Formats: sequence, structure tokens, C-alpha cells
Amino acid sequence: MNDWVYCDNNATTRPLPEVVEAMLPFLREAYANPSSVHQFGQSVRHRVEVAREQVARLIGAAAKEIVFTSGGTESINLAIRGALSARRWTGAGSRPRRILTTAVEHSAVLRVLEVLEADEWIIDTIGVDQDGRIEEAEFAAKLADDTALVSLIHANNETGVVFDVARLAGIAADRGIPVHVDAVQSVGKLPIDVTDWPVQFVSMSAHKFHGPKGTGALYVRRRARISPLIHGGGQERGLRGGTENVAGVVGMGVAAETATSDHAETAHRVRALRDRLEGGILSSIPFAHVNGRGAERLYTTANIGFEGLEAEAILILLSEARICASAGAACSSGSLEPSHVLKAMGIDERIAHGAIRFSLSRFSTTEEIDHVVATLPGLLSRLTALSMNR
Ligand code: PLP
Repeated sequence: MNDWVYCDNNATTRPLPEVVEAMLPFLREAYANPSSVHQFGQSVRHRVEVAREQVARLIGAAAKEIVFTSGGTESINLAIRGALSARRWTGAGSRPRRILTTAVEHSAVLRVLEVLEADEWIIDTIGVDQDGRIEEAEFAAKLADDTALVSLIHANNETGVVFDVARLAGIAADRGIPVHVDAVQSVGKLPIDVTDWPVQFVSMSAHKFHGPKGTGALYVRRRARISPLIHGGGQERGLRGGTENVAGVVGMGVAAETATSDHAETAHRVRALRDRLEGGILSSIPFAHVNGRGAERLYTTANIGFEGLEAEAILILLSEARICASAGAACSSGSLEPSHVLKAMGIDERIAHGAIRFSLSRFSTTEEIDHVVATLPGLLSRLTALSMNR
């Protein structure tokens, strides 16, 4: 499997060797339940609490503010649904019934909000400009007296465009409205300090920063109001019942520790690779467009639209060439729908249909990037020839 050129790191990342090593004892001999009173259990509990501190340190939180979950999707569900069900209306002012979000959220947020909408919540959505940015004044204007919650993505999974959470959340905080941030793509990649973010909840996922899949965390600010979704044995301070995924939690802790310690060096190196990839593609393929280019973007991500071509066909040929990437479009019932993110940005359909997301990581190399840049022109000209012969 190692001959793959892996440019799909926003989908998932390769676990660090030290993550896997740290997890193994908890799958083998250190199998006690961390809630057990005996010393065997308590030694495992100790390791879970070390991991909690490691994850907390990554985002400038206190260990008590970290709730372990099964991943980004569960954290998002817990934050949004848990925050709304914990909100009590005192009868003063208007009854809270609105949620403000953006047009470029991940489906984990969108689908939760769709369910809530069917449940009589009103979803207000803020659009983005051509580069995927939010206009602050428009954001402020969309907040209403009956807005109960704001949910904002930090770094976009498709384009990498980063929102200024500190400023936007500050506007909501001035009106006493709680904010949830989907930071699944940014935690472990961008420096985040929740003491600078006036937010109540931050969703994270270990597998996006070289930890294991199926483990995540929710940051819950001290005194933020939230109810559990999963009731059970009182684990995670009553916010998430169920015996902890100890190996996963330990792995997430180690991944967090590594991300905390060498973030700046990794960011610098991967950004240079991403820029090399974009520069190489733009100079050799005249019909390539970098989506979100004018905005601040996550350094791992290049979303490139190949005008007039179909993303699915490009991905198949890339895969045959043993290059992994993703489409900025979702294939549903045989028809390729342009992604809602690119649509919201108003990207020309001919570009959006041919949008490919290349996403890099600390494991990406110059040789890999040069290989992709060298492979693409020939591969795309095969497709252009095919579409002209149709
Ligand atoms: N939010 C964003 C922005 C993501 O990119 C993802 C994963 O692709 C998720 C949420 C869901 O995370 P998980 O796969 O851990 O459930």
C-alpha cells in the first residue's frame, strides 16, 4: 500500500508511529476499565487523564473542559443538540428559536441543523464571498434577539479557507449568544488558544491530526450550559456515558502532544509544499483555478478546479496513477453535484464540476508533489481528448 501518493489528508491522516506504539498496550495487557476502583483500573484511568491534559494543552484549555467522544461528528452533535436542550427560556424576552450558521459547513453540522429545522428551529445561514470569506457586518446583522446558538466552521474541509473565529465569536459573545466551532480540520494544524476565542464549544477529531479514527473530543468551556446526548454510567463528567475508548484516547493524546511540540516547523514545511503544488499546476495547466486563493487558507489544502472536466473522471485516472485525492463534489445518483461549498462561493459551474482537493500532511514529500505536478498534464489531456471525441 505504501506506493500511494497520498494527497487526501483532509479525509484522514496516517497515524504517527508513536501514536500506534502508545495505543498497543491498551489493546493488549492494560485492558482494565478506567472506572474500576482497583489499582489496575486506576492505572488506566491515570493514562486517560494524561491524554485529557495533552489534548487540553493543544488548544489552551483546562483538562476539565475536554470531553472525549467517538469523533468529530459526535462532538458536533453533542455541542449543538446538547447546548440547545440545556438552554432554559426564563420567559423574559423572545423565546430562543434561531440558530445561525454558514453556507459552507461540513455535512456533520448541516445534517444536524436539518433535523432541528424539522423540529421547529429556524436556521439562519450566512453566505460567503468568491473566496469563501464571511463579511463581519453581515454576520452581525444576522444575529437576532432570539438566536440561541451560532455554529461556525474554522478551517473549511474542502477549500481550507479559515474564518476569523475570534472576531466573529466576539460579535456573538457581545450579545450573549453561545458559539460552537467545528475545528475538526484546524485542531492540530493551526495554533488554537481557546482563551482568545469567546466560544463555548469546540469540536475536534483525532484522525485529522495523525491520531486514530473513531476518537474525538469536545471542548466545553467552564460553566457553559450543555446536556448529554448519551446517557449511561456517568463517564466524562456525565456528558458522555459509556466506557472510554482507552486506546483511542491515549492515541489522541500522543498525537496532540506531537502537534503541540512541532507545529510551527511542520506548518512552514507543508505550506511550502502546498504552494509548490499549486504553482506547478497553475504554470503547466492553463485551465486550472485555485479556489479560495484570495483568502487565508489552511496550509494543507489546495482546491483546484480544472475547467470543463469532470472531477470524478480525474479522480479515477489519479487513482490509476496511484495518487489519492478527493473531489470537491459529491456524486449522488449518478449525477455529479457541485459541492455546496463551491456553490456558495459562486464558483463557475464549469470549474466547480472539475474541482479536486489535494490535501497534504507532515508526511508529504517534495518528490510526491513533483510527481503529481508531472503526472497531471498528461492525465488531463487524455480526458480532454476523450471529451472532444464524445
Ligand atoms: N467537520 C469537518 C470540518 C470535517 O472535515 C470532518 C471530517 O471530514 C468532520 C467534521 C467529521 O469528523 P469525523 O470524521 O471525526 O466524524
